[in-house]
Amino acid sequence: MSADPARCTACRLCETRTQVVLPDGAAGGLLAVGEAPGRDEDLQGVGFVGRAGRTLDGVLLELGLHRADYARTNVVRCRPPENRKPRRDEVQACSGWLQGAVNALQPRVILAVGQSAAEQLLTLPRQPYLEFVVATLQGSEPLQRYGGVSVVPMPHTSPLAWNRRRADGTALRDIGARAAAQAVSVLAAAGAPARR
Ligand code: SF4
Repeated sequence: MSADPARCTACRLCETRTQVVLPDGAAGGLLAVGEAPGRDEDLQGVGFVGRAGRTLDGVLLELGLHRADYARTNVVRCRPPENRKPRRDEVQACSGWLQGAVNALQPRVILAVGQSAAEQLLTLPRQPYLEFVVATLQGSEPLQRYGGVSVVPMPHTSPLAWNRRRADGTALRDIGARAAAQAVSVLAAAGAPARR
């Protein structure tokens, strides 16, 4: 791993990225962890600025948390070609950077945005990810920790995932909003100001 995070060449994603997307945002509060930068993030060098990121911004803003109030990073910091899922060795190569971001940002709660982030941060049971998210919301699955920080799982905020419904008709966007509210509640309970 390079000493300079912006020049990392530890996995093949360095060959196709435009630039490394580094963590950004406020330390000491909520840290959103996504799967990987997409096209907009790759071009701008800023995380969570595409449609999925803007959706998350909107959900958190509804809860009183402005974009400047929380931090963002991804499981891998370079965009996979064609937005494919990051491969296991790429995730492994970037895991030190993720741990370093958590150490540096000292969040009081982590919001795992989508299954890929949750897989890296948590030990997932053998059940569909969405059922795990709902069980966590209902309290039948306890909140797990990553680096000592509580992690709340939520559905991915990409349009494809966000606009789906469960078999019982519940909209994933509603489950996502409830998960985000759970994370903000954990944040408030930890003594951090959740609102401006
Ligand atoms: S994805 Fe992570 S490990 Fe791979 S080159 Fe980018 S910063 Fe380095």
